[in-house]
Amino acid sequence: MALQVINQKSDPITIHQKTLARFKELWLKIYDNTSCFSCLSRAPEDTLDCHHSLCTQCTRTHGTSTLQEPWTFYVAKCPLCCERNYTTFAHKPDTAGIRAIIAEGGGVRGIIPLAFLKELQAVIDLPIAIQEHFDIAVGSSSGKSTNNRWRFGRANTVQVH
Ligand SMILES: [Zn+2]
Ligand SMILES: [Zn+2]
Repeated sequence: MALQVINQKSDPITIHQKTLARFKELWLKIYDNTSCFSCLSRAPEDTLDCHHSLCTQCTRTHGTSTLQEPWTFYVAKCPLCCERNYTTFAHKPDTAGIRAIIAEGGGVRGIIPLAFLKELQAVIDLPIAIQEHFDIAVGSSSGKSTNNRWRFGRANTVQVH
């Protein structure tokens, strides 16, 4: 029996997917947002179109990404119920920490962070707004207006008085 598995040229992921798919009718009756049913090890983070949820590791295991967007994962079908999925999942790179920008005040010197951000955006020359590179923006005094001027999202902006 073990020899048959080796001869099927199946990698562990394919074997796991086939095992999960054997119970696809049962998976249609079971939904939970506290456990990833693919690995039973972690909490789910990504919810598929079928409403089953996977942890980030299982999304990467069952999904694919491209060279252009290596941290955006596409899971073609749910590994549990096998229904088609169109939602993609953007993950934070493993080596990325919290990306914070701090704009200090200082009256008229508050123009310096604005000029710096403008120059930085010109130098990196990417079709992505500079604001997209940060998770949180902190500003005090005139630094608050720097953050407002650059339209960092209100939810991730902290203003210090
Ligand atoms: Zn998992
Ligand atoms: Zn599903």
